[in-house]
Amino acid sequence: MAINTKIDHCNEYFSLSRSEKKEFDQSILNELKENPIKHITTEWGMFENLGPMNEVEIDNLAGNVLSKMTLKEKVDQMSCDNEPRYACINPPRYNYSPYYAGENLKLDIPAVKFTDGPTGIVMGYHSTAFPVSIARGSSWDTELEERVGNVIGVEGRSGGANFFAGVCINLLRHPAWGRAQETYGEDTCLLGKMGSALTRGVQKHMMACVKHYAGNSIENARFKVSVEMDERTLREIYLPHFKACVDEGAAAMMSSYNRVRGVWCGHNDYLINQILNKEWGFKGFVMSDFIWGVRDTVDAANGGQCIEMYATQYFGDKLVQAVEDGKVSEIKINESVKRILSEKIRFSFVGRNNSYSEDKMGCKEHARLAREVSEKSTVLLKNDNILPLNKTNIKKIVVVGRLAVTPNTGDLKGSSAVFPPYVITPLSGIKAVVGSDVEVCYVDGKIPHQAQVISKDADAVIVIVGLTSLDEGEFITNGGNIGGDRRNLGLHPDDEDLIEAISKANKNVIVCLQGGSTIIIEPWKNYAKAILMQWYPGMEGGAALANILLGDVNPSAKMPVTVPASATQLPYYDIEATSIVYDYYHGYFLADKEKYPVTYHFGFGMSYTTYNYSNVKTSESEDTIFVCVDVANAGMMAGDEVVQLYIGYKNSKVERHVKDLKGFTKIHLKPGECKTVSITLAIKDLAYYSEELSSWIVEDVNYIAMIGSSSDNMDLLTAEFSLVNKNV
Ligand code: BGC
Repeated sequence: MAINTKIDHCNEYFSLSRSEKKEFDQSILNELKENPIKHITTEWGMFENLGPMNEVEIDNLAGNVLSKMTLKEKVDQMSCDNEPRYACINPPRYNYSPYYAGENLKLDIPAVKFTDGPTGIVMGYHSTAFPVSIARGSSWDTELEERVGNVIGVEGRSGGANFFAGVCINLLRHPAWGRAQETYGEDTCLLGKMGSALTRGVQKHMMACVKHYAGNSIENARFKVSVEMDERTLREIYLPHFKACVDEGAAAMMSSYNRVRGVWCGHNDYLINQILNKEWGFKGFVMSDFIWGVRDTVDAANGGQCIEMYATQYFGDKLVQAVEDGKVSEIKINESVKRILSEKIRFSFVGRNNSYSEDKMGCKEHARLAREVSEKSTVLLKNDNILPLNKTNIKKIVVVGRLAVTPNTGDLKGSSAVFPPYVITPLSGIKAVVGSDVEVCYVDGKIPHQAQVISKDADAVIVIVGLTSLDEGEFITNGGNIGGDRRNLGLHPDDEDLIEAISKANKNVIVCLQGGSTIIIEPWKNYAKAILMQWYPGMEGGAALANILLGDVNPSAKMPVTVPASATQLPYYDIEATSIVYDYYHGYFLADKEKYPVTYHFGFGMSYTTYNYSNVKTSESEDTIFVCVDVANAGMMAGDEVVQLYIGYKNSKVERHVKDLKGFTKIHLKPGECKTVSITLAIKDLAYYSEELSSWIVEDVNYIAMIGSSSDNMDLLTAEFSLVNKNV
């Protein structure tokens, strides 16, 4: 039977049998061979040689181009260049080359050329695999994240893309989310600052797309769930980080698969037209998440959706028809197309004087940055005077665990999989650093007794355990099958048993955890003298780990999530939900409210030196609060410290969190050095959202500035200040 290749929706392809799919793929490949897809001859087509323009000039030019387009040409700007039948087959692997949307050969208009992220550039044979975003969130280092963005931008352009869809800033409400690794953590302020930094770096070269707008944090249920939340929770918890990236000038926003208050996010008039475009003044365009991000032609177009990805299923001819039938106004089409054209114009002169070439993808210089990022994002959670190891005193190290020899860079099944030229595993990293005088033995730990025997006479036993792409991630299969979220928040039981067994043979157990989210460690934490959270540490992770273990690098990272003592300390979560309520409390907000004895507080991370905080002071100008504190390095080793500012509220008329992170900064201190650190805070950022008044209110109450090394009250110095008549 000959297969009908004229499919209308990718679902039709996904319902084919394996052999039918094969036949289908072959017929499409033949078709493409006979009729290869043509592209415009220059990178930016009609915008190729424009000089830098101001906003008015960009707007005028976009308007001018738009005025000469037919309705069909306009709608084509809003439609992916893939028909469903081309979109389904995907040689040689997902996003190997950029996905095109809106290229017009006749008018010489360039496409949006899509590459995924956020671990690096997904395209190409090889690219740099950075530590995953949640690791980078642990660095609390916006300058570093901007450098990561810069490299991603260079590699993206080098691979032929002009659009990076990897600024993922969904709030990690519950650590079971399979894609926790793709975001920066549980806190709005941290997400906003890190996402803005990545945007800034990427946009030195190409468009950055922020995703997934909004409320997307369950993987299994993402194609059906409706996230319910009150207006205050939406405004204060789930949206501010998106607004921060809009203020940074992000070119695009990807709408998410899920529904918010019953409305698909790709159609969501309230989120897109009202809040994003009108209230926030977003200048860029919205792109749908792939295949199931748009479900209806009219609702999506009227809801403010600008580009349907990555197959034209509801836009294209159906959208032209909807306009002709009067169901979508041409004014709405014009608005969306103008947004797309404006960004293409704006980015046509970005990076023009740089050289982009494929040899930049995964090059040495970028790998060095990947190592630095891993060094700055590995969190030291526990250290009972065992680290750093002293090379000169050590004769034998035993490295245990399958992950010690596994290139474990994160999700390999989903859209964020990056393919680096090599991966330095923990074992190879450690071997390279200790030198030939130290014996390094390896045992996979499958048989705990064998590991015990080998470990008995070692000076230190380094156990590498955790999660892989088989445990968590994005789960994309034909037909949108579901999966990816974690059901068990601890280690695999055999890994827990292994740690216990080894500790019976040797007291010097150092556990290094890999994974993309919080791992509950209570059952075994007392068996380890030191614990590190290395996340998925990127292509240079093994080298970074060795540098930390041996003291060539002083750890400085801090947890971007709370580590609960048990899952009962987490908010309600249902990975199969069709509807779920997200409320005002999760992470440290919930732990503070309920006074939970968590294992590690949000913002916690140790160093090989000690920092002393003293002398906290606040001062105020018209619209800003300044909080100053002295931080001294009281130890023997130079190091970096993340100074965190939280705000608490006294006598507020409304319910507020016990504290909210409002700012942070990272400083370097030599042994004995003391610096005065000042963190500034815009007074408007103290506001709460009043549902009654539909506006932000800064209360005339007393505020408590809490500054220190983590969100644990024991680690914070406090100073009070009050505000009068500051409402904005
Ligand atoms: C993911 C997006 C991704 C897109 C393209 C979707 O399944 O949710 O994050 O950018 O696929 O692969």
